[in-house]
Amino acid sequence: MSAVLFTNVRIFDGSGRAPFAGQVLVKDNRIAAVSVAGERAPPEDSATVIDGYGATLMPGLTEAHAHLSWPSSVERFVPGMALPPEDLLLTTARNARILLDHGFTSAYSGGALGKTIEVSLKAHIDSGSMPGPRLIPSSIEREPPTDGTLVTAGNIADHGSGPDAIRAFVKSCAEIGAKSVKFLLSGESALKPGASMQLLYTAEEVRAAGEQARASNVWLTGHAHAPEAVKLGICNGFRILYHCTYADQEAIDLLTERRGEMFVAPSIGIVQATLDAKPPPHFDMSHIKADAAIVLERQQRLAPELKKRGVRLLPGGDYGFPFNPNGRNARDLELFVQHLGFTPTEALVAATQWGSELTGTSHELGQVKAGYLADLLLVKGDPTVNVAILQDKSNLLAIMKDGKFHKAPTANAAR
Ligand SMILES: [Zn+2]
Repeated sequence: MSAVLFTNVRIFDGSGRAPFAGQVLVKDNRIAAVSVAGERAPPEDSATVIDGYGATLMPGLTEAHAHLSWPSSVERFVPGMALPPEDLLLTTARNARILLDHGFTSAYSGGALGKTIEVSLKAHIDSGSMPGPRLIPSSIEREPPTDGTLVTAGNIADHGSGPDAIRAFVKSCAEIGAKSVKFLLSGESALKPGASMQLLYTAEEVRAAGEQARASNVWLTGHAHAPEAVKLGICNGFRILYHCTYADQEAIDLLTERRGEMFVAPSIGIVQATLDAKPPPHFDMSHIKADAAIVLERQQRLAPELKKRGVRLLPGGDYGFPFNPNGRNARDLELFVQHLGFTPTEALVAATQWGSELTGTSHELGQVKAGYLADLLLVKGDPTVNVAILQDKSNLLAIMKDGKFHKAPTANAAR
């Protein structure tokens, strides 16, 4: 049995309780004990002792809107979305490692650029042979038959219209091993003017998706800006909806009613990144910047209202685009504080405890608690005071996943 004792740390346990001084004992892959400073820690002679020198020990983060196969990352800029297949596979695996390097020990996929990439990747990660977060894998994103311009990748196969085609699609994703199936319930104005208000599926088709998802035991994930898209997602049992930008009063009331069963990721990262982007002169972003300004303004009103009503809003911001690269994911937490009415502690709870609720693992992940799996970050500084410190990976002194160090602390690093 291997054992690690973190001493002299301030513990943010993921529950929302203020950080407290204490120590945490990890045995094999689980947290064996959490003790408050002054209490006697359980004796564990063989434990490797990590002195945190007052650093914060907290649960690993969950990304609720991950696109590991979207190619750009903080390590590599890829203009556009298309890569040759071999490069795409390697890039996706590399992005998984990059998320873990940045403190994300879990990720819920918002869709992939290949049918089975994430299912294979998950198998490699779970076997312990490749670094990456615990992954809820998806398959290819689904849009209805079109010219393929609705998602920039336009890389969508085997689709048809009508409820039967939808059922077959959901079933085939489940058979491949996907755990979440992504639908573009409405379009995306950032890519095609006016598309955010266009419904891409009929009510019968979305109902068929819901029925088949329950039969096949997979979750549904929806890209939804238009009010009717939000309502269709809610009423057909979608687990998580992204954006919800134009949710009207009826949609807000429905979200409130179903707040125990579902989640919303406003996906604010991509919006801020669009506003911040400084494209080269030949690349006209004026239209998508204008759209982003509208989305931000609406989210600044919508998100605090949903939060007040107890709807769980999760960080996860469509990272992987050239101007919003994988690896920058923790920026969402700062944006939650800056724009969406969250305190740093509330943003951290959303990214930890609520993240584990999204992935169905809250009985053993998302908190620093005895018996829970040891997915832990040792952070230089106090993220409950300044959540932005999580964006600098040099502040992550140690990253532990399943009781093993992905990044081991160097001696005295926390000083
Ligand atoms: Zn997305």
